[in-house]
Amino acid sequence: MKIILLGAPGAGKGTVAKQLTQLDGSVQISTGDILRGAVQAGSELGKEAKGYMDRGDLVPDSLIMGIMEARLQEDDCEKGFLLDGFPRTIPQAEALTELLAKLDISLDMVVNIDVPRDVIFDRLCTRRTCENTKCQAIYNVKSMPPKKEGICDKCGSPIVQRADETQEAIAHRLDTYNEKTAPLAGFYEKKGLLKTITGTSSDAVVNGIKKELGI
Ligand code: AMP
Repeated sequence: MKIILLGAPGAGKGTVAKQLTQLDGSVQISTGDILRGAVQAGSELGKEAKGYMDRGDLVPDSLIMGIMEARLQEDDCEKGFLLDGFPRTIPQAEALTELLAKLDISLDMVVNIDVPRDVIFDRLCTRRTCENTKCQAIYNVKSMPPKKEGICDKCGSPIVQRADETQEAIAHRLDTYNEKTAPLAGFYEKKGLLKTITGTSSDAVVNGIKKELGI
């Protein structure tokens, strides 16, 4: 499947994407994960992106398009992909449309995961992430704590609160989302690709997507 997952930070895009990869071998492509990996590796890309990310601002479109142009041409995308956190601005969406046309790829659909702001805010404040960039497993201190406090169940690395998951940075990220990313729903609706699914459980969202795709 070739799907874009839209939705505010904390809407559950990553969890839904991981569940969908189990169905047909499609890969999850998260620009946030790629950027955090680059920051931790101390690469040029990471150095350029870090300040924007810590403030909860979007990284410039040109950097993101450079990443995605290369990523979408890797072999593992042949079975399909779930774009998680990209595109995030109208210029990114326009550039993606051109890129997909050039690569002769068509999208199955764009899913807008709609979750109330108060639920999202609470989720992000209590979210913790494995600091190992090869793992980046997600936990929640209230609803999904690790078995051993502060330690990742999967790889044993420390789990941490991301710098952009303080209350201030979260509020800023949600405002940025409303201003820059929410208009993408209209962009894809006009193309006849949009399906909005309202739901706070990832299972409900995954079932909605399966139904839409007839699988
Ligand atoms: P995420 O994990 O998707 O919430 O992304 C974390 C941070 O990475 C965002 O707050 C942005 O600073 C940056 N980022 C991720 N994806 C994008 C994108 N498509 N465009 C611009 N910035 C991005």
